[in-house]
Formats: sequence, structure tokens, C-alpha cells
Amino acid sequence: MSPTRVLVLNSGSSSVKYQLLDMRDNSRLAVGLVERIGEETSRLKHTPLHGGGATRESTGPIPDHEAALKAVSAELAKDGLGLDSSELAAIGHRVVHGGKSFTEPTVIDEAVLAEIERLIPVAPLHNPANLTGIRTARALRPDLPQVAVFDTAFHTTMPESAARYAIDVRTADEYRIRRYGFHGTSHAFVSRATAELLGRAPEDVNVIVLHLGNGASASAVEKGRCVDTSMGLTPLEGLVMGTRSGDLDPAVIFHLARVGGLSTDEIDTLLNKRSGLIGLCGDNDMREIRRRVDEGDQQAQLAFDIYIHRLKKYIGAYYAVLGRVDAVAFTAGVGENAAPVREAAIAGLQELGLAVDAELNAVRSDEPRLISPAGARVAVAVVPTDEELEIAAQTYALVARN
Ligand code: AMP
Repeated sequence: MSPTRVLVLNSGSSSVKYQLLDMRDNSRLAVGLVERIGEETSRLKHTPLHGGGATRESTGPIPDHEAALKAVSAELAKDGLGLDSSELAAIGHRVVHGGKSFTEPTVIDEAVLAEIERLIPVAPLHNPANLTGIRTARALRPDLPQVAVFDTAFHTTMPESAARYAIDVRTADEYRIRRYGFHGTSHAFVSRATAELLGRAPEDVNVIVLHLGNGASASAVEKGRCVDTSMGLTPLEGLVMGTRSGDLDPAVIFHLARVGGLSTDEIDTLLNKRSGLIGLCGDNDMREIRRRVDEGDQQAQLAFDIYIHRLKKYIGAYYAVLGRVDAVAFTAGVGENAAPVREAAIAGLQELGLAVDAELNAVRSDEPRLISPAGARVAVAVVPTDEELEIAAQTYALVARN
């Protein structure tokens, strides 16, 4: 029998997240995380889900990604699931930036590695770490197909009218400045799962997907294809996020440089790490912000209101972009769990056929579900995202085809 397991790797600069799945039934066999790679206090947390077994944690120096993957393989091997297993069909890698070149999951070879490397200038924080993870995994299992699944791929269907910034075309082309979008694996998964929830084919429905996690993005999905998304050249544009500002007049940057005397790096850090919810009220966790709002904290209330105002603007904008909307789907940490965010974002949109039923909205569940009142013209849904499953499924489908 051909192998059916897929290892999904999400390699960051100092961390590796992983999941091992069996694609016969999409079940998870193990999940885990290595953090603080390169430090004295690296930590490995491994949870076997296959036949039970408790979570195992260890702390100690893990100098680099190679050592991290070897440690992961050793953990998996304790349950008979090591990287050397003949049951492993492929490794699927999350790659953040695929530029314009990668519109689909791609089997990795030297040319693919070179192209991901060529994209480093537009994804300086992410692509180098993704490449390290890929190179390490290839060295450990050179015989095994490895697949890159790109965060940007789902958005490559955006028309030029949505993907281009209104700046000098030659300059934009020279520096590859355009709107790429991110969280694509999640937007693809959730838009499809929303169609399924409605009992319709993805090609028949138009969905606004609101991926609200620590990072946040919205997308307009027309008949299964992305036609607009809120993140741009980098994941900084769009919605208010945990620590990122989202949309902003670019002249704020000139002002900070000329009047404030801040360096480019300082402004980068300010907008990416010290803005958004944390910049507005000191907290980036929506649970904490809601707790403070409930206690009457004005600063938290303002942060919440700004977050909701931006969200509403995007719902309205994408409604207009799509013309007809069948569903609005909330997903990721905030979207799946924060009922007050969903309620506030949809409040007042009855004229657009949008409403939330308070009782349905209060239900807590891991399942996709509708929260709009029965008979509503436009469905409002909560659809838990599963990026790892989507990466595994795309990887497996590609390997099975070849
Ligand atoms: P993610 O990036 O998708 O993992 O989402 C992480 C964020 O989800 C956290 O920073 C929280 O703001 C938010 N979150 C998680 N659980 C809850 C909850 N029960 N209520 C409100 N927000 C939550």
C-alpha cells in the first residue's frame, strides 16, 4: 500500500511547528512545537495523538533547525512515527511568500528553492526561515517528495485592479511592489468549508472571509476564487491586528521620519509590533480587552471600537466588490471565539441582509455553524480554520497525482 502520512512543517526564524497527519481519514497522529531554537532554553513540546499518550516536554539547547528536526523525529520515533518511516508520503512546508510565481502547491526542487530565495526581499522575516526548514528536511529525507504550500497562492487570482497599488508602474514592477495577500491557505479552506456548510458548491457561492487571529485579514471570494484581500505587499496592510496597525496614510511614515526623527527600522517595529490593539490599549489578546471593556475601561473600549470600525469598512467594501454575497464567515482565534466581535461587526447591517442571532452567536463549538437568524438573506457563519489540514491535503493530492 502506498504511504498515507504527511508531515506538515511551519518553520519560523526560531521555531518549528509540526503536525503529522494520516490522509486516509485526515486524522492527526502527533502535533508539536520547538521554540527558542538557538538559545540555551529551547523547548520541545510533543503531543502524540495516535493511541493516546501524554504530552512530552523538554528544555535544553537546540542550536539550529537541523537539530530541531532531528529532535522532532526522535520524538515521533518513540511512537513508531519517525521521519525515516516508510509510511511517510511527503512533507508539506508552509511558505509565506510565493510572489506572483507560485499559484499552486509545488513539489520542491532546486529551481523552486532558488525562486523562494529570490523572493526574500519582499518577505525578509519569513522566507529565510521557511527555506531553512525545507533545506533541513530535504537533507534528512532526500528521497521524499517535499511540497511548498504558499500563503499567497490563493490570492494570485486577484484581478490587476485589486492587486496593483496606484503608484508609478515601472517603479512597482522594478521592486515587485503589488498586493500579494496572506493567510491564503486559511481563506481557501474556510471559503470552501462555508460553501459546504451551506450545502452548495464553492463555484456557486460568494463569501467574505474574516480571518481574525493575532494577524487578521479579510478576503472577497467569488465562486471559489479570491478577488480581493486586505493584506498587501506584506501582512501589515488592512485590518487592525494584535500588534499591527493595518491601513494607514503612508504619509504617517514620512512624518515620523522627518518630524519624529525615527529610523526606517524603528518605524517598521512601531507599525508591526507596537501598534494595533497593543498600541491602542496595551493588550493584544481579545479576551483581556473584552474583560477590560466589561469593567468599563475606556481605553480598551476605544481599541475595540477602532477594531470593529475597520472590520465593518471591509465587510462593506467587499460586499460592493462582490455585488452579491451568500455568506460572511468568521474564523481564527478571535473570529471563532469572540462572540462580541461578531455581534458588533454585523450590527446595523440589516439593510445588507446581514444579522446575527444572539443565541446562536453565544454557542461555543469547534464545528462550522451558522449564527444568522433562520431565513436570513445572507448567511453569517463561524467556520474554524485548519491550515495544517489544508497544507497536508494539498501536499498529499499533489504527491498522489505525480
Ligand atoms: P490565532 O492567531 O488565530 O491563534 O488567534 C490568537 C488570538 O485569538 C489571541 O491573541 C486572542 O486575541 C484570540 N482569542 C483566542 N481565544 C479567544 C477567546 N475565547 N475570546 C476572545 N479572543 C480569543
